[in-house]
Amino acid sequence: MLNVGIDIGGTKIAGGVVDAAGGILDKRRVDTPAEVPALVDAVVAMAEDLRARHDITAIGVAAAGFIDRDRSTVIHAPNIAWRNEPLRAVLESRLHAPVSIENDANAAGWGEFRFGAGRGRSHMVMLTMGTGVGGAVVSDGALYRGGFGSGGELGHVRFIRDGLPCGCGQKGCLEQYASGRALQRQAAEIAAAGGIGQALADARDSDGAIHGADISRLVEAGDPGALEALRRVAGALGEACGGFQAVLDPEVFVIGGGVAQLGDVVLEPVRAAYAASLPGGGDRPTAEFAVARLGNDAGLIGVADLAGRGR
Ligand code: BGC
Ligand code: ZN
Repeated sequence: MLNVGIDIGGTKIAGGVVDAAGGILDKRRVDTPAEVPALVDAVVAMAEDLRARHDITAIGVAAAGFIDRDRSTVIHAPNIAWRNEPLRAVLESRLHAPVSIENDANAAGWGEFRFGAGRGRSHMVMLTMGTGVGGAVVSDGALYRGGFGSGGELGHVRFIRDGLPCGCGQKGCLEQYASGRALQRQAAEIAAAGGIGQALADARDSDGAIHGADISRLVEAGDPGALEALRRVAGALGEACGGFQAVLDPEVFVIGGGVAQLGDVVLEPVRAAYAASLPGGGDRPTAEFAVARLGNDAGLIGVADLAGRGR
């Protein structure tokens, strides 16, 4: 059985044809258009292209927003201009085929649970560090969706009282301190302060922005400024994980999204901050931390698998 999975991220739309073992047979990737109509066109074009070349059973689309109980409407998307967008109906009318919709982080979490770093566990939490911070909760082998469909939005748990404004309308959400964008913000602050920020300052583009790829490059080169920026962001995530352990008690936390591609250099400060913030720490079992094994493909693999299961 082959299914199409398409993952609409903040910067890229990734799509692929996925088999029953989570393998990708054919893959596409385009930049995410800023305007919603162009974004929908891009998703439709990708789905049409893939299904024209393969014998497809189901189509799943993952979107970065709060999805309703019926898996048909994007109720709210903090980083995309979607408010009560009937995405499933829009895509089905264009594709003349059933389409399953899922939250992007739920899709990635499901992909990792089935075929990646969460395989063989029953209780898993996934956090994605990308444009936003996505959350997925697998409890007793099932994806947790909550009473209205939008459970597991761990990036919008308040992290700092009266903190930075968030795209969800609130202030101080974890997403503002632990996402890829937060890493860019931290890098910019460190660059502006001088000292260890010199290499980051040199990496600024003409608008003063520091691109994620440049921060990654500097982290890998061991630049102290870039490492400090990463330590702050990973520390925020780990600190929040201590609280998530108290609520959800997962066996494993899987960390995904662009930032997690850096690997152990991310996990180390995450683990340290988690250990330091764990309620009852020292006495209770602790979770493992793993980087997403499916990398940036976790979402498209997961949403294809969910679509194939009719959920
Ligand atoms: C959104 C989530 C999404 C995450 C990662 C957050 O801002 O609220 O729905 O999963 O970003 O894209
Ligand atoms: Zn928020």
